[in-house]
Amino acid sequence: MRRKIAAGNWKMNGTGLDLAMLADLCDRHPAPRCDILICPPAPLIHRAAQTVRNNTVAIGAQDCHAEPSGAHTGDVSAAMLADAGASAVILGHSERRQDHGETDASVRAKAQAVIANGLTAIVCVGETLAQRDAGDTLDLITSQLNGSLPDTIAGHSNVIAYEPIWAIGTGRVPAAAQIGEVHAFIRSTLGQRFGPETAAAIRLLYGGSVKAANAAEIFSVPDVDGALVGGASLSVADFSPIVSAL
Ligand code: 13P
Repeated sequence: MRRKIAAGNWKMNGTGLDLAMLADLCDRHPAPRCDILICPPAPLIHRAAQTVRNNTVAIGAQDCHAEPSGAHTGDVSAAMLADAGASAVILGHSERRQDHGETDASVRAKAQAVIANGLTAIVCVGETLAQRDAGDTLDLITSQLNGSLPDTIAGHSNVIAYEPIWAIGTGRVPAAAQIGEVHAFIRSTLGQRFGPETAAAIRLLYGGSVKAANAAEIFSVPDVDGALVGGASLSVADFSPIVSAL
């Protein structure tokens, strides 16, 4: 049985003042039925990890460099994130693919580094509206999975997030059947490459305009093992009901 995950991606939002939200979240969910993960901006990771220490909320990062150290100004390695208290790293988010030219190959190298450091890799895939309208969604997902997932993803508690780009921050959510089609497709594609056991163990999150109002319906879709939440992860009032819906 896959344990479900409520994951929050704060993106480039939050300062030290917002860490009070984390303490509040811990208080509200002393014994959650699911894993809870919050991924704040890098400067907050250490303090966030201190805030939730010994609690049921885990802290993650939003990106890392593939190399362990070296002349890479402005970058942060997976080992540094682990040292700061992160237990997971989001990789290949569409905003990083768009804003920073990340490719499937660079995402794969980062995922390898994350897994080698004992952290959970959360690898993001998802199509644009033009790709969906052209009927290219499943082909695109196939090539993103083939290119972005390292072989080492098997045998670890890693995660894939399906985030249709047209649903991110737009309030537009795919129909339950559309989400179900892609999630089932991802699981069967994983099975072909890694075998049925790994495919059954990897957790698949849906992301894109998840809110308290639509969470229960999305979580009832087969092969949806939780959510990667953007805007609604910034406040306890919005995020707590999503945790409770799992
Ligand atoms: P929203 O929940 O704000 O649509 O963002 C989704 C997302 O990109 C999470 O990584």
